[in-house]
Amino acid sequence: MAASLTASVGMPVDPARILLVDDQPARLLTYEAILAPLGEELVAVQSGEEALRRLMETEFAVILLDVSMPGLDGFETAGLIHAHPRFENTPIIFVTGVHVGELDRLEGYRLGAIDYVQIPLVPDILRSKVAVLVELYRRRRELRTLNQSLAGENANLVQANLALQTERAREYQALSETLAAANAKLSEANAALESEVAERRHAEQVSLQLATSLRKLDRRKDEFLATLAHELRNPLAPIRNAVAVLRGRPLDEATSQHTLEVIDRQVRQLVRLVDDLLDVSRITYDRIELKRERVEIGAILSATRDMALPSIEQRNQTLALEPPIAPVHVHGDPQRLIQVVGNLLNNASKYTPPGGTIALAARSDGERVRVSVTDDGIGISAEDLRNVFDLFVQVDAAREHAQGGLGIGLTLVKRLVEMHGGTVAAESDGRGRGSRFTIELPCAVDASPAQQASVAPGVSGARIRVVIVDDNRDAADMLALTLQMLGHETKVVYDPLLALDAIAAFGPRVAFVDLGMPRLGGIELAGMIRERFGASIRLVALTGWGQPADRERTREAGFDFHFVKPIDLAEVEKLCSVG
Ligand code: ADP
Repeated sequence: MAASLTASVGMPVDPARILLVDDQPARLLTYEAILAPLGEELVAVQSGEEALRRLMETEFAVILLDVSMPGLDGFETAGLIHAHPRFENTPIIFVTGVHVGELDRLEGYRLGAIDYVQIPLVPDILRSKVAVLVELYRRRRELRTLNQSLAGENANLVQANLALQTERAREYQALSETLAAANAKLSEANAALESEVAERRHAEQVSLQLATSLRKLDRRKDEFLATLAHELRNPLAPIRNAVAVLRGRPLDEATSQHTLEVIDRQVRQLVRLVDDLLDVSRITYDRIELKRERVEIGAILSATRDMALPSIEQRNQTLALEPPIAPVHVHGDPQRLIQVVGNLLNNASKYTPPGGTIALAARSDGERVRVSVTDDGIGISAEDLRNVFDLFVQVDAAREHAQGGLGIGLTLVKRLVEMHGGTVAAESDGRGRGSRFTIELPCAVDASPAQQASVAPGVSGARIRVVIVDDNRDAADMLALTLQMLGHETKVVYDPLLALDAIAAFGPRVAFVDLGMPRLGGIELAGMIRERFGASIRLVALTGWGQPADRERTREAGFDFHFVKPIDLAEVEKLCSVG
Protein backbone atom coordinates (compact mmCIF):
# COMPACT_ATOMS: atom_id res chain seq x y z
CA MET A 1 0.00 0.00 0.00
CA ALA A 2 2.86 2.28 0.85
CA ALA A 3 4.36 1.54 -2.55
CA SER A 4 1.12 2.37 -4.35
CA LEU A 5 0.77 5.61 -2.46
CA THR A 6 4.29 6.70 -3.38
CA ALA A 7 3.86 5.51 -6.97
CA SER A 8 0.59 7.43 -7.32
CA VAL A 9 2.55 10.66 -7.35
CA GLY A 10 3.92 9.36 -10.70
CA MET A 11 7.15 11.28 -10.67
CA PRO A 12 10.32 11.30 -8.59
CA VAL A 13 9.66 12.92 -5.21
CA ASP A 14 12.02 14.14 -2.54
CA PRO A 15 12.35 11.60 0.22
CA ALA A 16 10.44 12.59 3.36
CA ARG A 17 12.27 12.63 6.67
CA ILE A 18 11.30 10.16 9.41
CA LEU A 19 12.62 10.70 12.91
CA LEU A 20 13.36 7.49 14.83
CA VAL A 21 13.71 8.07 18.57
CA ASP A 22 14.85 5.18 20.83
CA ASP A 23 17.47 4.84 23.50
CA GLN A 24 18.31 1.35 22.29
CA PRO A 25 20.60 1.29 19.21
CA ALA A 26 19.49 -2.22 18.31
CA ARG A 27 15.94 -1.10 18.11
CA LEU A 28 16.90 1.85 16.01
CA LEU A 29 18.55 -0.54 13.60
CA THR A 30 15.39 -2.63 13.51
CA TYR A 31 13.33 0.40 12.65
CA GLU A 32 15.71 1.33 9.89
CA ALA A 33 15.63 -2.16 8.49
CA ILE A 34 11.86 -2.24 8.52
CA LEU A 35 11.42 1.24 7.02
CA ALA A 36 14.28 1.30 4.51
CA PRO A 37 12.09 -0.12 1.69
CA LEU A 38 9.97 3.07 1.88
CA GLY A 39 12.91 4.96 0.32
CA GLU A 40 12.55 7.81 2.74
CA GLU A 41 15.28 9.58 4.70
CA LEU A 42 15.57 7.99 8.14
CA VAL A 43 17.07 10.03 10.97
CA ALA A 44 17.81 8.04 14.11
CA VAL A 45 18.36 9.66 17.54
CA GLN A 46 18.71 8.11 20.95
CA SER A 47 17.01 10.59 23.30
CA GLY A 48 14.09 12.94 23.61
CA GLU A 49 16.47 15.94 23.85
CA GLU A 50 18.26 14.91 20.66
CA ALA A 51 14.91 14.54 18.96
CA LEU A 52 13.87 18.04 19.94
CA ARG A 53 17.16 19.46 18.65
CA ARG A 54 16.73 17.73 15.29
CA LEU A 55 13.18 19.01 15.06
CA MET A 56 14.47 22.54 15.53
CA GLU A 57 16.79 22.03 12.57
CA THR A 58 14.45 20.46 10.05
CA GLU A 59 10.98 19.22 9.34
CA PHE A 60 9.86 15.61 9.73
CA ALA A 61 6.98 13.76 8.20
CA VAL A 62 6.58 11.23 10.99
CA ILE A 63 8.16 10.63 14.40
CA LEU A 64 8.57 7.10 15.68
CA LEU A 65 8.96 7.57 19.41
CA ASP A 66 9.90 5.05 22.06
CA VAL A 67 7.74 5.56 25.15
CA SER A 68 10.17 4.34 27.78
CA MET A 69 13.46 6.13 27.61
CA PRO A 70 15.77 7.37 30.32
CA GLY A 71 15.75 11.14 30.76
CA LEU A 72 12.85 12.53 28.80
CA ASP A 73 10.54 9.62 28.26
CA GLY A 74 8.35 9.30 25.17
CA PHE A 75 5.27 11.06 26.61
CA GLU A 76 7.29 14.01 27.91
CA THR A 77 9.07 14.36 24.59
CA ALA A 78 5.71 14.21 22.74
CA GLY A 79 4.27 16.85 25.08
CA LEU A 80 7.20 19.20 24.36
CA ILE A 81 7.04 18.54 20.63
CA HIS A 82 3.32 19.26 20.30
CA ALA A 83 3.59 22.31 22.56
CA HIS A 84 5.59 23.91 19.74
CA PRO A 85 3.26 25.50 17.17
CA ARG A 86 5.45 24.37 14.23
CA PHE A 87 5.14 20.71 15.16
CA GLU A 88 1.73 20.47 16.69
CA ASN A 89 0.47 18.59 13.65
CA THR A 90 3.50 16.31 13.19
CA PRO A 91 2.21 12.75 13.61
CA ILE A 92 3.84 10.62 16.30
CA ILE A 93 3.76 6.82 16.49
CA PHE A 94 4.56 5.54 19.95
CA VAL A 95 6.54 2.34 20.34
CA THR A 96 5.45 0.58 23.51
CA GLY A 97 6.33 -2.54 25.47
CA VAL A 98 3.69 -5.07 26.39
CA HIS A 99 3.36 -3.55 29.85
CA VAL A 100 1.75 -0.28 28.63
CA GLY A 101 -1.76 -0.23 29.94
CA GLU A 102 -4.88 1.44 28.52
CA LEU A 103 -4.41 4.47 30.75
CA ASP A 104 -0.95 5.08 29.37
CA ARG A 105 -2.32 4.80 25.84
CA LEU A 106 -4.97 7.39 26.65
CA GLU A 107 -2.25 9.69 28.02
CA GLY A 108 -0.38 9.18 24.77
CA TYR A 109 -3.36 10.15 22.63
CA ARG A 110 -3.89 13.26 24.80
CA LEU A 111 -0.31 14.27 24.06
CA GLY A 112 -0.91 13.96 20.34
CA ALA A 113 -0.03 10.37 19.50
CA ILE A 114 -1.49 9.15 16.28
CA ASP A 115 -0.85 5.52 16.76
CA TYR A 116 0.86 2.82 18.78
CA VAL A 117 3.01 -0.08 17.73
CA GLN A 118 3.96 -2.74 20.15
CA ILE A 119 7.12 -4.64 20.68
CA PRO A 120 7.67 -7.12 19.14
CA LEU A 121 7.18 -5.13 16.03
CA VAL A 122 5.31 -6.49 13.06
CA PRO A 123 7.37 -5.01 10.19
CA ASP A 124 4.55 -4.78 7.64
CA ILE A 125 2.22 -3.06 10.11
CA LEU A 126 4.87 -0.52 11.13
CA ARG A 127 5.87 0.12 7.51
CA SER A 128 2.29 0.48 6.47
CA LYS A 129 1.43 2.89 9.26
CA VAL A 130 4.53 5.02 8.57
CA ALA A 131 3.89 4.91 4.83
CA VAL A 132 0.32 6.18 5.31
CA LEU A 133 1.50 9.00 7.54
CA VAL A 134 4.30 9.92 5.09
CA GLU A 135 1.76 9.94 2.30
CA LEU A 136 -0.51 12.17 4.38
CA TYR A 137 2.45 14.42 5.09
CA ARG A 138 3.21 14.70 1.39
CA ARG A 139 -0.43 15.49 0.57
CA ARG A 140 -0.48 18.06 3.31
CA ARG A 141 2.68 19.59 1.95
CA GLU A 142 1.32 19.57 -1.58
CA LEU A 143 -1.85 21.11 -0.30
CA ARG A 144 0.19 23.71 1.51
CA THR A 145 2.15 24.51 -1.68
CA LEU A 146 -1.07 24.56 -3.62
CA ASN A 147 -2.55 26.77 -1.00
CA GLN A 148 0.44 29.07 -1.13
CA SER A 149 0.31 29.31 -4.90
CA LEU A 150 -3.44 29.79 -4.67
CA ALA A 151 -2.87 32.52 -2.15
CA GLY A 152 -0.28 33.97 -4.53
CA GLU A 153 -2.73 33.75 -7.43
CA ASN A 154 -5.36 35.23 -5.21
CA ALA A 155 -3.10 38.08 -4.29
CA ASN A 156 -2.36 38.53 -7.99
CA LEU A 157 -6.05 38.46 -8.69
CA VAL A 158 -6.70 40.95 -5.95
CA GLN A 159 -3.90 43.07 -7.35
CA ALA A 160 -5.27 42.72 -10.89
CA ASN A 161 -8.73 43.49 -9.61
CA LEU A 162 -7.41 46.50 -7.82
CA ALA A 163 -5.56 47.62 -10.93
CA LEU A 164 -8.71 47.01 -12.97
CA GLN A 165 -10.78 48.96 -10.52
CA THR A 166 -8.25 51.77 -10.45
CA GLU A 167 -8.16 51.79 -14.23
CA ARG A 168 -11.92 51.70 -14.38
CA ALA A 169 -12.16 54.45 -11.81
CA ARG A 170 -9.68 56.48 -13.86
CA GLU A 171 -11.60 55.82 -17.06
CA TYR A 172 -14.84 56.59 -15.31
CA GLN A 173 -13.34 59.77 -13.93
CA ALA A 174 -12.05 60.76 -17.40
CA LEU A 175 -15.42 59.90 -18.90
CA SER A 176 -17.18 61.88 -16.20
CA GLU A 177 -14.92 64.85 -16.82
CA THR A 178 -15.49 64.63 -20.59
CA LEU A 179 -19.20 64.33 -19.97
CA ALA A 180 -19.16 67.24 -17.52
CA ALA A 181 -17.21 69.38 -20.03
CA ALA A 182 -19.60 68.39 -22.80
CA ASN A 183 -22.47 69.13 -20.48
CA ALA A 184 -21.08 72.53 -19.59
CA LYS A 185 -20.60 73.32 -23.27
CA LEU A 186 -24.10 72.14 -23.96
CA SER A 187 -25.61 74.29 -21.26
CA GLU A 188 -23.49 77.21 -22.45
CA ALA A 189 -24.75 76.67 -25.98
CA ASN A 190 -28.20 76.29 -24.55
CA ALA A 191 -27.95 79.55 -22.64
CA ALA A 192 -26.61 81.31 -25.75
CA LEU A 193 -29.44 79.83 -27.75
CA GLU A 194 -31.99 80.86 -25.16
CA SER A 195 -30.65 84.39 -25.03
CA GLU A 196 -30.62 84.51 -28.83
CA VAL A 197 -34.19 83.27 -28.89
CA ALA A 198 -35.10 85.87 -26.26
CA GLU A 199 -33.31 88.56 -28.27
CA ARG A 200 -35.08 87.51 -31.44
CA ARG A 201 -38.38 87.42 -29.64
CA HIS A 202 -37.66 90.89 -28.30
CA ALA A 203 -36.61 92.10 -31.76
CA GLU A 204 -39.78 90.58 -33.16
CA GLN A 205 -41.82 92.32 -30.52
CA VAL A 206 -40.05 95.60 -31.17
CA SER A 207 -40.57 95.30 -34.91
CA LEU A 208 -44.18 94.31 -34.29
CA GLN A 209 -44.64 97.35 -32.09
CA LEU A 210 -42.83 99.41 -34.69
CA ALA A 211 -45.05 98.05 -37.42
CA THR A 212 -48.15 98.78 -35.32
CA SER A 213 -47.04 102.30 -34.56
CA LEU A 214 -46.03 102.78 -38.20
CA ARG A 215 -49.46 101.60 -39.29
CA LYS A 216 -51.00 103.95 -36.74
CA LEU A 217 -48.82 106.81 -37.97
CA ASP A 218 -49.62 105.94 -41.55
CA ARG A 219 -53.34 105.98 -40.79
CA ARG A 220 -52.92 109.26 -38.99
CA LYS A 221 -50.95 110.63 -41.95
CA ASP A 222 -53.75 109.62 -44.34
CA GLU A 223 -56.31 111.23 -42.07
CA PHE A 224 -54.07 114.24 -41.87
CA LEU A 225 -53.75 114.53 -45.64
CA ALA A 226 -57.53 114.35 -45.98
CA THR A 227 -57.89 117.02 -43.28
CA LEU A 228 -55.16 119.10 -44.90
CA ALA A 229 -56.83 119.02 -48.31
CA HIS A 230 -60.10 120.00 -46.67
CA GLU A 231 -58.54 122.74 -44.59
CA LEU A 232 -56.60 124.21 -47.49
CA ARG A 233 -59.69 124.23 -49.69
CA ASN A 234 -61.89 125.83 -47.02
CA PRO A 235 -60.40 129.35 -47.15
CA LEU A 236 -60.15 129.29 -50.93
CA ALA A 237 -63.91 129.38 -51.50
CA PRO A 238 -64.52 132.64 -49.60
CA ILE A 239 -61.41 134.17 -51.19
CA ARG A 240 -62.65 133.33 -54.67
CA ASN A 241 -66.10 134.68 -53.85
CA ALA A 242 -64.62 137.83 -52.39
CA VAL A 243 -62.53 138.38 -55.54
CA ALA A 244 -65.68 137.92 -57.65
CA VAL A 245 -67.47 140.50 -55.51
CA LEU A 246 -64.59 142.95 -55.85
CA ARG A 247 -64.56 142.46 -59.63
CA GLY A 248 -68.28 143.23 -59.88
CA ARG A 249 -70.09 146.52 -59.74
CA PRO A 250 -68.55 149.39 -57.83
CA LEU A 251 -68.99 148.61 -54.12
CA ASP A 252 -69.84 150.83 -51.24
CA GLU A 253 -67.13 151.42 -48.69
CA ALA A 254 -68.59 149.04 -46.04
CA THR A 255 -69.02 146.12 -48.47
CA SER A 256 -65.58 146.45 -49.97
CA GLN A 257 -64.10 146.75 -46.48
CA HIS A 258 -65.93 143.63 -45.37
CA THR A 259 -64.89 141.73 -48.53
CA LEU A 260 -61.26 142.66 -48.00
CA GLU A 261 -61.48 141.55 -44.39
CA VAL A 262 -62.81 138.19 -45.53
CA ILE A 263 -59.86 137.78 -47.90
CA ASP A 264 -57.42 138.91 -45.24
CA ARG A 265 -58.83 136.52 -42.64
CA GLN A 266 -58.84 133.56 -44.99
CA VAL A 267 -55.32 134.28 -46.27
CA ARG A 268 -54.13 134.49 -42.68
CA GLN A 269 -55.71 131.14 -42.00
CA LEU A 270 -53.93 129.67 -45.05
CA VAL A 271 -50.62 131.22 -44.02
CA ARG A 272 -51.05 129.86 -40.52
CA LEU A 273 -51.66 126.34 -41.84
CA VAL A 274 -48.65 126.48 -44.15
CA ASP A 275 -46.48 127.96 -41.43
CA ASP A 276 -47.44 125.22 -39.01
CA LEU A 277 -46.73 122.58 -41.62
CA LEU A 278 -43.35 124.05 -42.44
CA ASP A 279 -42.52 124.34 -38.76
CA VAL A 280 -43.41 120.74 -38.08
CA SER A 281 -41.27 119.54 -40.95
CA ARG A 282 -38.37 121.76 -39.90
CA ILE A 283 -38.63 120.58 -36.32
CA THR A 284 -38.79 116.98 -37.46
CA TYR A 285 -35.54 117.44 -39.39
CA ASP A 286 -34.01 119.53 -36.59
CA ARG A 287 -33.85 122.60 -38.79
CA ILE A 288 -35.38 125.17 -36.50
CA GLU A 289 -32.97 127.55 -34.90
CA LEU A 290 -34.10 129.50 -31.89
CA LYS A 291 -33.15 133.18 -31.86
CA ARG A 292 -32.78 133.29 -28.14
CA GLU A 293 -32.58 136.40 -26.07
CA ARG A 294 -33.59 137.54 -22.65
CA VAL A 295 -37.38 137.65 -22.65
CA GLU A 296 -39.83 138.85 -20.03
CA ILE A 297 -42.67 136.35 -19.65
CA GLY A 298 -45.25 139.05 -18.83
CA ALA A 299 -44.53 140.69 -22.21
CA ILE A 300 -44.97 137.37 -24.00
CA LEU A 301 -48.32 136.85 -22.26
CA SER A 302 -49.58 140.34 -23.16
CA ALA A 303 -48.46 140.06 -26.80
CA THR A 304 -50.15 136.67 -27.11
CA ARG A 305 -53.30 137.92 -25.44
CA ASP A 306 -53.46 140.84 -27.89
CA MET A 307 -53.14 138.49 -30.84
CA ALA A 308 -55.74 136.01 -29.63
CA LEU A 309 -58.24 138.46 -28.19
CA PRO A 310 -60.18 139.22 -31.41
CA SER A 311 -61.16 135.59 -32.00
CA ILE A 312 -61.84 135.03 -28.29
CA GLU A 313 -64.12 138.05 -28.21
CA GLN A 314 -65.79 136.94 -31.41
CA ARG A 315 -66.80 133.76 -29.53
CA ASN A 316 -68.05 135.78 -26.61
CA GLN A 317 -65.49 134.23 -24.31
CA THR A 318 -63.79 135.89 -21.37
CA LEU A 319 -59.99 135.87 -21.09
CA ALA A 320 -58.44 136.47 -17.67
CA LEU A 321 -54.73 137.39 -17.70
CA GLU A 322 -52.68 136.76 -14.57
CA PRO A 323 -49.11 137.87 -15.33
CA PRO A 324 -46.30 137.01 -12.89
CA ILE A 325 -46.33 139.10 -9.71
CA ALA A 326 -42.76 140.31 -10.39
CA PRO A 327 -41.04 140.33 -13.83
CA VAL A 328 -39.75 136.87 -14.76
CA HIS A 329 -37.17 136.37 -17.51
CA VAL A 330 -36.37 133.35 -19.62
CA HIS A 331 -33.70 132.79 -22.24
CA GLY A 332 -35.87 132.14 -25.27
CA ASP A 333 -36.99 132.99 -28.77
CA PRO A 334 -39.81 135.54 -28.29
CA GLN A 335 -41.55 134.75 -31.60
CA ARG A 336 -41.53 131.03 -30.81
CA LEU A 337 -42.75 131.56 -27.25
CA ILE A 338 -45.60 133.69 -28.57
CA GLN A 339 -46.34 130.91 -31.06
CA VAL A 340 -46.42 128.35 -28.22
CA VAL A 341 -48.68 130.31 -25.89
CA GLY A 342 -50.75 131.49 -28.88
CA ASN A 343 -51.36 127.89 -29.92
CA LEU A 344 -52.55 126.97 -26.43
CA LEU A 345 -54.80 130.06 -26.23
CA ASN A 346 -56.15 129.39 -29.71
CA ASN A 347 -56.97 125.78 -28.71
CA ALA A 348 -58.59 126.91 -25.46
CA SER A 349 -60.86 129.21 -27.43
CA LYS A 350 -61.58 126.61 -30.15
CA TYR A 351 -62.44 123.84 -27.69
CA THR A 352 -64.54 126.01 -25.36
CA PRO A 353 -68.15 126.82 -26.30
CA PRO A 354 -69.15 130.47 -26.81
CA GLY A 355 -69.48 132.28 -23.51
CA GLY A 356 -66.79 130.19 -21.81
CA THR A 357 -63.92 131.39 -19.68
CA ILE A 358 -60.19 131.15 -20.37
CA ALA A 359 -57.36 132.01 -17.99
CA LEU A 360 -53.76 132.75 -19.01
CA ALA A 361 -51.48 132.78 -15.99
CA ALA A 362 -47.77 132.67 -15.12
CA ARG A 363 -46.15 131.84 -11.79
CA SER A 364 -42.49 131.44 -10.91
CA ASP A 365 -40.51 130.04 -8.01
CA GLY A 366 -37.36 131.83 -9.14
CA GLU A 367 -35.88 128.82 -10.90
CA ARG A 368 -38.69 127.87 -13.21
CA VAL A 369 -41.72 129.66 -14.56
CA ARG A 370 -45.03 127.92 -15.18
CA VAL A 371 -47.38 129.35 -17.80
CA SER A 372 -50.83 127.82 -17.78
CA VAL A 373 -53.80 128.13 -20.11
CA THR A 374 -57.02 126.97 -18.44
CA ASP A 375 -60.45 126.72 -20.00
CA ASP A 376 -63.88 125.44 -18.99
CA GLY A 377 -64.48 123.85 -22.39
CA ILE A 378 -65.10 120.38 -23.75
CA GLY A 379 -62.26 118.76 -21.78
CA ILE A 380 -60.23 115.69 -22.71
CA SER A 381 -60.77 112.08 -21.65
CA ALA A 382 -58.01 110.36 -19.64
CA GLU A 383 -57.27 108.07 -22.59
CA ASP A 384 -56.93 110.93 -25.08
CA LEU A 385 -54.75 112.91 -22.68
CA ARG A 386 -52.02 110.34 -23.23
CA ASN A 387 -51.46 111.21 -26.89
CA VAL A 388 -52.74 114.74 -27.53
CA PHE A 389 -49.12 115.83 -28.06
CA ASP A 390 -48.53 113.26 -30.81
CA LEU A 391 -48.30 114.39 -34.43
CA PHE A 392 -51.58 114.54 -36.40
CA VAL A 393 -53.63 113.60 -33.34
CA GLN A 394 -57.10 115.02 -33.25
CA VAL A 395 -59.49 113.73 -30.66
CA ASP A 396 -62.56 112.44 -32.50
CA ALA A 397 -65.01 114.08 -30.13
CA ALA A 398 -63.24 117.43 -30.66
CA ARG A 399 -63.15 117.31 -34.48
CA GLU A 400 -66.25 119.41 -34.97
CA HIS A 401 -64.66 122.18 -32.89
CA ALA A 402 -61.27 121.97 -34.59
CA GLN A 403 -61.99 124.85 -37.02
CA GLY A 404 -59.24 124.17 -39.47
CA GLY A 405 -56.82 122.48 -37.13
CA LEU A 406 -54.48 119.85 -38.52
CA GLY A 407 -53.56 118.07 -35.29
CA ILE A 408 -50.05 119.47 -35.33
CA GLY A 409 -50.37 122.47 -33.01
CA LEU A 410 -49.65 120.60 -29.77
CA THR A 411 -46.78 118.69 -31.37
CA LEU A 412 -45.23 122.02 -32.26
CA VAL A 413 -45.88 123.35 -28.77
CA LYS A 414 -44.20 120.34 -27.19
CA ARG A 415 -41.14 120.36 -29.43
CA LEU A 416 -40.63 124.11 -29.19
CA VAL A 417 -40.94 124.02 -25.40
CA GLU A 418 -38.47 121.14 -25.25
CA MET A 419 -36.06 123.10 -27.45
CA HIS A 420 -36.26 125.77 -24.74
CA GLY A 421 -35.32 123.16 -22.11
CA GLY A 422 -38.87 123.06 -20.77
CA THR A 423 -41.79 120.67 -20.46
CA VAL A 424 -45.48 120.78 -21.27
CA ALA A 425 -48.33 118.89 -19.62
CA ALA A 426 -52.06 118.55 -20.22
CA GLU A 427 -54.66 118.00 -17.50
CA SER A 428 -58.38 117.53 -17.60
CA ASP A 429 -60.98 116.03 -15.30
CA GLY A 430 -62.60 114.46 -18.35
CA ARG A 431 -65.03 115.27 -21.15
CA GLY A 432 -67.02 118.44 -20.56
CA ARG A 433 -64.90 119.47 -17.57
CA GLY A 434 -62.39 121.87 -19.09
CA SER A 435 -58.64 121.51 -19.68
CA ARG A 436 -55.43 123.00 -18.49
CA PHE A 437 -52.16 123.08 -20.45
CA THR A 438 -49.07 124.08 -18.50
CA ILE A 439 -45.64 124.80 -19.87
CA GLU A 440 -42.68 125.00 -17.56
CA LEU A 441 -39.49 126.84 -18.56
CA PRO A 442 -36.20 127.44 -16.79
CA CYS A 443 -35.76 131.07 -15.71
CA ALA A 444 -32.88 133.08 -17.21
CA VAL A 445 -29.83 133.10 -14.96
CA ASP A 446 -28.83 136.70 -15.60
CA ALA A 447 -31.46 139.07 -14.22
CA SER A 448 -30.07 142.19 -15.94
CA PRO A 449 -32.90 143.99 -17.67
CA ALA A 450 -30.54 145.36 -20.34
CA GLN A 451 -31.85 143.43 -23.31
CA GLN A 452 -35.57 143.17 -23.13
CA ALA A 453 -37.19 141.50 -26.07
CA SER A 454 -39.11 143.71 -28.40
CA VAL A 455 -42.20 141.73 -29.15
CA ALA A 456 -43.95 144.39 -31.16
CA PRO A 457 -42.39 145.92 -34.22
CA GLY A 458 -42.04 149.67 -34.26
CA VAL A 459 -43.70 151.76 -36.94
CA SER A 460 -42.83 155.13 -38.46
CA GLY A 461 -44.55 156.91 -41.28
CA ALA A 462 -41.63 157.79 -43.71
CA ARG A 463 -42.52 157.53 -47.43
CA ILE A 464 -39.91 155.85 -49.62
CA ARG A 465 -39.48 154.54 -53.17
CA VAL A 466 -39.59 150.78 -53.56
CA VAL A 467 -38.83 148.65 -56.65
CA ILE A 468 -40.30 145.15 -56.91
CA VAL A 469 -38.65 142.75 -59.37
CA ASP A 470 -40.72 139.54 -59.71
CA ASP A 471 -41.87 137.57 -62.76
CA ASN A 472 -44.97 136.43 -60.79
CA ARG A 473 -47.20 139.35 -61.69
CA ASP A 474 -49.85 138.72 -59.02
CA ALA A 475 -47.32 138.50 -56.27
CA ALA A 476 -45.50 141.62 -57.49
CA ASP A 477 -48.72 143.61 -57.90
CA MET A 478 -50.08 142.60 -54.48
CA LEU A 479 -46.85 143.57 -52.76
CA ALA A 480 -46.85 146.89 -54.61
CA LEU A 481 -50.47 147.52 -53.55
CA THR A 482 -49.65 146.71 -49.94
CA LEU A 483 -46.69 149.07 -49.99
CA GLN A 484 -48.81 151.79 -51.59
CA MET A 485 -51.37 151.31 -48.86
CA LEU A 486 -48.60 151.93 -46.38
CA GLY A 487 -47.93 155.16 -48.24
CA HIS A 488 -44.84 154.19 -50.24
CA GLU A 489 -44.14 154.82 -53.91
CA THR A 490 -43.63 151.65 -55.95
CA LYS A 491 -42.31 150.48 -59.33
CA VAL A 492 -43.00 146.92 -60.48
CA VAL A 493 -40.63 145.15 -62.93
CA TYR A 494 -41.73 141.73 -64.26
CA ASP A 495 -38.65 141.17 -66.48
CA PRO A 496 -35.37 140.93 -64.55
CA LEU A 497 -33.41 142.02 -67.60
CA LEU A 498 -35.14 145.44 -67.39
CA ALA A 499 -34.51 145.78 -63.64
CA LEU A 500 -31.20 147.66 -63.75
CA ASP A 501 -32.59 150.39 -66.06
CA ALA A 502 -35.77 150.69 -64.01
CA ILE A 503 -33.75 151.11 -60.82
CA ALA A 504 -31.51 153.70 -62.50
CA ALA A 505 -34.59 155.66 -63.66
CA PHE A 506 -36.64 155.28 -60.45
CA GLY A 507 -33.91 155.62 -57.80
CA PRO A 508 -35.48 153.44 -55.08
CA ARG A 509 -34.41 153.24 -51.44
CA VAL A 510 -35.50 149.60 -51.25
CA ALA A 511 -35.59 146.84 -53.92
CA PHE A 512 -37.51 143.58 -53.44
CA VAL A 513 -35.96 140.94 -55.76
CA ASP A 514 -37.48 137.52 -56.35
CA LEU A 515 -34.82 134.80 -56.46
CA GLY A 516 -36.44 132.26 -58.78
CA MET A 517 -36.82 134.15 -62.07
CA PRO A 518 -36.20 132.81 -65.60
CA ARG A 519 -33.33 134.17 -67.73
CA LEU A 520 -31.81 136.10 -64.82
CA GLY A 521 -31.99 134.80 -61.25
CA GLY A 522 -32.24 137.09 -58.22
CA ILE A 523 -28.79 136.12 -56.94
CA GLU A 524 -27.08 137.28 -60.17
CA LEU A 525 -29.26 140.36 -60.36
CA ALA A 526 -28.33 141.30 -56.79
CA GLY A 527 -24.63 141.15 -57.75
CA MET A 528 -25.30 143.44 -60.74
CA ILE A 529 -27.29 145.91 -58.64
CA ARG A 530 -24.55 146.06 -56.01
CA GLU A 531 -21.93 146.53 -58.70
CA ARG A 532 -23.76 149.35 -60.40
CA PHE A 533 -25.41 151.15 -57.50
CA GLY A 534 -23.19 150.20 -54.54
CA ALA A 535 -24.66 149.95 -51.03
CA SER A 536 -27.15 152.78 -51.44
CA ILE A 537 -30.11 150.47 -52.06
CA ARG A 538 -31.56 148.20 -49.41
CA LEU A 539 -31.84 144.82 -51.14
CA VAL A 540 -34.53 142.35 -50.02
CA ALA A 541 -34.57 138.74 -51.27
CA LEU A 542 -38.01 137.16 -51.84
CA THR A 543 -37.99 133.38 -51.71
CA GLY A 544 -39.82 130.25 -50.62
CA TRP A 545 -36.65 128.92 -48.94
CA GLY A 546 -35.70 129.92 -45.46
CA GLN A 547 -33.00 127.54 -44.30
CA PRO A 548 -29.81 128.96 -42.78
CA ALA A 549 -27.91 127.89 -45.92
CA ASP A 550 -30.40 129.82 -48.11
CA ARG A 551 -30.02 132.89 -45.93
CA GLU A 552 -26.27 132.58 -46.10
CA ARG A 553 -26.40 132.43 -49.91
CA THR A 554 -28.49 135.61 -50.22
CA ARG A 555 -26.28 137.41 -47.71
CA GLU A 556 -23.21 136.52 -49.75
CA ALA A 557 -24.94 137.71 -52.96
CA GLY A 558 -25.29 141.17 -51.39
CA PHE A 559 -28.85 141.09 -50.03
CA ASP A 560 -29.58 142.94 -46.80
CA PHE A 561 -32.73 140.99 -45.92
CA HIS A 562 -34.16 137.57 -46.62
CA PHE A 563 -37.97 137.32 -46.68
CA VAL A 564 -39.70 133.98 -46.88
CA LYS A 565 -43.00 134.10 -48.82
CA PRO A 566 -45.72 134.85 -47.97
CA ILE A 567 -44.30 138.03 -46.59
CA ASP A 568 -45.47 139.23 -43.22
CA LEU A 569 -46.95 142.71 -43.67
CA ALA A 570 -45.59 143.79 -40.32
CA GLU A 571 -42.06 142.92 -41.42
CA VAL A 572 -42.43 144.87 -44.68
CA GLU A 573 -43.77 147.79 -42.72
CA LYS A 574 -40.88 147.62 -40.31
CA LEU A 575 -38.29 147.35 -43.05
CA CYS A 576 -39.60 150.28 -45.04
CA SER A 577 -40.19 152.45 -42.00
CA VAL A 578 -36.57 152.52 -40.84
CA GLY A 579 -35.26 153.55 -44.20
P1 ADP B 1 -55.76 120.79 -33.68
O1 ADP B 1 -55.24 121.45 -34.90
O2 ADP B 1 -56.67 119.64 -33.97
O3 ADP B 1 -56.27 121.72 -32.67
P2 ADP B 1 -53.65 120.29 -31.78
O4 ADP B 1 -52.39 119.52 -31.91
O5 ADP B 1 -53.55 121.73 -31.41
O6 ADP B 1 -54.43 120.05 -33.09
O7 ADP B 1 -54.54 119.55 -30.69
C1 ADP B 1 -54.69 118.17 -30.74
C2 ADP B 1 -56.01 117.75 -30.15
O8 ADP B 1 -55.99 117.98 -28.74
C3 ADP B 1 -57.18 118.55 -30.66
O9 ADP B 1 -57.69 117.99 -31.84
C4 ADP B 1 -58.16 118.42 -29.50
O10 ADP B 1 -58.87 117.22 -29.61
C5 ADP B 1 -57.28 118.34 -28.28
N1 ADP B 1 -57.18 119.63 -27.56
C6 ADP B 1 -56.20 120.54 -27.66
N2 ADP B 1 -56.42 121.61 -26.83
C7 ADP B 1 -57.61 121.34 -26.20
C8 ADP B 1 -58.40 122.03 -25.21
N3 ADP B 1 -58.03 123.24 -24.71
N4 ADP B 1 -59.54 121.46 -24.81
C9 ADP B 1 -59.93 120.25 -25.31
N5 ADP B 1 -59.23 119.53 -26.23
C10 ADP B 1 -58.08 120.08 -26.68
